[in-house]
This record gives sequence, C-alpha cells and structure tokens, in this order.
Amino acid sequence: MKLHQLTIHEAHELLKQKKISSQELTLAVLQRIEDVEEKVDAFITVAGDHALQQAAEADRLIASGHCEPLTGIPLAIKDLICTRGMQTSCASRILENFMPPYDATVTRKLKQAGAVILGKLNMDEFAMGSSTENSGVKITRNPWDLERIPGGSSVGSAVAVAADMCLGALGSDTGGSIRQPASHCGVVGMKPTYGRISRFGLVAFASSLDQIGPLAKDVADCALLLNTIAGHDAADSTSVPVDVPDYGASLADGLKGLKIGIPREYSVTEGLDPEVEAAVNRAIGVIEGLGAECIDVSLPHSEYAVAVYYVIAPSEASSNLARYDGVKYGFRNTDHSELMNMYRTTRSIGFGPEVQRRIIIGTYCLSAGYYDAYYGKASQVRTLIVEDFKKAFGKCDVILSPVAPTPAFKIGEKIDDPLTMYLSDIFTLSANLAGIPGMSVPCGLSGQGLPIGLQLMAKHFNEETLFKVAHNFEQATEFHKLKPSL
Ligand code: GLN
Repeated sequence: MKLHQLTIHEAHELLKQKKISSQELTLAVLQRIEDVEEKVDAFITVAGDHALQQAAEADRLIASGHCEPLTGIPLAIKDLICTRGMQTSCASRILENFMPPYDATVTRKLKQAGAVILGKLNMDEFAMGSSTENSGVKITRNPWDLERIPGGSSVGSAVAVAADMCLGALGSDTGGSIRQPASHCGVVGMKPTYGRISRFGLVAFASSLDQIGPLAKDVADCALLLNTIAGHDAADSTSVPVDVPDYGASLADGLKGLKIGIPREYSVTEGLDPEVEAAVNRAIGVIEGLGAECIDVSLPHSEYAVAVYYVIAPSEASSNLARYDGVKYGFRNTDHSELMNMYRTTRSIGFGPEVQRRIIIGTYCLSAGYYDAYYGKASQVRTLIVEDFKKAFGKCDVILSPVAPTPAFKIGEKIDDPLTMYLSDIFTLSANLAGIPGMSVPCGLSGQGLPIGLQLMAKHFNEETLFKVAHNFEQATEFHKLKPSL
C-alpha cells in the first residue's frame, strides 16, 4: 500500500513504531495532491511548505515519545473554518482576501494534537449548496466519475478523503453538507450533535443548524477525529458542557439487543432512486444479520423538513451575512459614488447568485408582517419534527435511512432549478432541525459504479451508538475499501 492510501489509525501505528516519519507521509500526500488535483479541484489552498514544517515538528514530538493519534497526520480543512494566517474564503469573492487573525477552536485542537494541516478545501459558497456548483472559486469533480457532482457543500473534504489527498478532513453540516458528499464519494462522514463541537471560528451560515464534523476513510478514523475536536468551549455558548467519551472504545461491541428504527415515510419518498432503496434495504439485512432488531417507526412531519429548512436556514443566513458590507473586512467595491452604493455594489459583486437568493428569501421571511407567517410557522413545525424524533427514539436506538435520494448526478443537471436541487437534502435536513447526530457510511455502488451512502441517526449526544453500528456494518462489508480509479 502507498503511504497516501493509509488510514489515520494505520499511519499512526507506523509513526509510533517509527517505521515512517510524518515528513515522508506528508510528502507522499502532497505528491498525491499534485498528481490528481488538476482532475478533481478539491483544494482552494495547498500550504505545502507550512505542512512540511509542521511534519518536521511532529517528527520531533514523536522522537521525544509523544505520539497522540493525530500527531504527524496530514489533514485538510473546509475553507469556512478559520485558520490563523491561512486564507479562509468560504469559496466567496466577498472573503477572497480574508486571513483570519485567529484559529477556530477545532483548528487549535488539531494543531495541539500535532496534526499537519495541508490546506483548505473547496465548498459551495458559504456552504449553500448540494453539488459544489455554487462555489465562487471552482467546481470540484467526483473522483468516481469526473462528469458528476461530488455532493455539497463540504465537497473538497469528501473528495480529498476519497482520492487519498489527505488522511482525514473537517467539514460542516447545516442540512447535510457532510453526509451528502460523503455518500456521493464513498467515504465516512459524521454530523455530531448540535453543541458537541465548538463552532467558534466556523463562519456562520445558519447558527441554529451549523455543526462541524469529520470526514474519514473509515469509521475508526472518524471516531479518532471526533475525539480530538469534540468538547465544551467557553468561546461558544451553544457548545454543551457534557463529557466526551472515547469514541474508539466501544466500536467493536456487538449489536445484539440494539433496536434500529426504519421510518415508514422514507420508502414512499418521491424521487427515491430504486438502486439507492435496494442498497439501503440490503444494508438493513446486514445489520439484522449482526443481531440488531429492525422495527417500524414513523416521522410524520419529515415531509415538511425541506420547507422548514428553506425558511429557517435562509432567514438565519440573511442575518449572519449582513456583516459583509465592505466596511469591516473582505472585498469592497471602491468604484462607487456614496456609501449606500458602496454597500449595494459590494454585496452584488461579492456574493454569488445562490447566496443572494437566500439573503433575499431570508430577509423577506423575517420582515415585519411576514415573520409570523414564515419564520414563526417554520419554527413551530420544527418543534413537531423534534417531537417526532423523541417519540421514535422512545422505541429505537438508531434510525436508518438513505442519505441522498439518488447517486451523484451530472454537473449542470440541476443547477437551473433550485427547487429540485433543494430536494437532494430531503433525508439529511431533519437531523439538523432536531440537532441530533447523523452519519453516512458507504453501503453500495450503483450500476454505474457510483457510491451510495447509508444514513444512521441517534439521540442527542449518542454518537458512540452510531459509531458502533457503523463500525459493525463496515466490518461486515467491503464498501469502504473500494477506491475510485483516478
Ligand atoms: N444543501 C443544503 C443547503 O444548500 C445544506 C448545506 C449545508 O449543510 N451546509 O443549504
């Protein structure tokens, strides 16, 4: 096996035994980036020299006997998580010159663990999108078929992991942006419970939904990454002061006695591709074979999730994005005659069409006279969705569903029809609305050789149950070992 193909836990063993150095590993991964970046366009910034310095530092740490699970491991970060002195653009023209003067809490934690930060990954602008076609920088391509979308919005993260351009990555998930690209690229991705990870230094899209999470080559790696980045942070008042278990500890525990809920609404979802449905059904069979009991549950309000999300997320975005006005930081259009014009033209030029669409929708939903009808009503239905999950989790430990209704579609296929595009999030949005953890694990390939993901969801702060089910499933199948041929 080549060095860039290693998982984090495999590389860690070799580093600990001093069979390889972090510098060798980092060089191998940088070489891989050089070889395939042209085809897939996953990175916005590759910080090679900086990464090699960090690798040298990690090698010194390891030589002195300090080898934590992420020490010396080359990772990459979605371009909306602040990295001190390294551009953080959100794939938007409006932040093209933004060099954060500080690290996000998760970045700081990775650095403290001795990880090597390779660079920053492409995304849909401000994380708004399901296909990477909304990136203000470039379109990332699916390594399994370069004509197809790799999902969105944490596209660079999923593609870089799938194409062995890093050993693991961080993304963010507001409505599916970790799970959906993970599903389309055949990697493991987790959106942890809202409040599990500090959002300090994560550029805000929709603050009541956003969560940072890991993307990795297998479930054990995903658990290792979460171990490092989870935990309460005084700098984020929505991070929750609860203990962080060792997520690697219970991976191998069996599934006997576990109840898996299959929501009856999912199989009748319009637009569910038969190949996706068949792959998920086969996965249910495998999980039953491992000793879990599958039961029928109901999430009757999930049919409103898309409508609720596309009121709440744009509303919060319109408020969060008000700060980009050309005055404080970021792009400013200097070709203007007076202040109002400067604001207007800066935002018209600085934001792409989807971001502008959402700001307009959100501003409308929050405006006096419409607030009760839209944001207020959506918040009420959100509560019903939360109640649905509470009831379902009264009967089961994990809920299982598809991640995306179809395998990866062709670039350009849905870009002119935002409503169809929004439906690609139909299975993932509810977990964000309810704040519960959700995960995508590879569970099949379509007839055209495109990866299909299985979604697992659990009660708040029950990530370890998800890891356990996912790991058992992974060990019983081979899908996580399949690689795109680039
Ligand atoms: N695709 C969804 C959207 O465009 C979700 C994005 C996300 O999770 N960041 O809003």
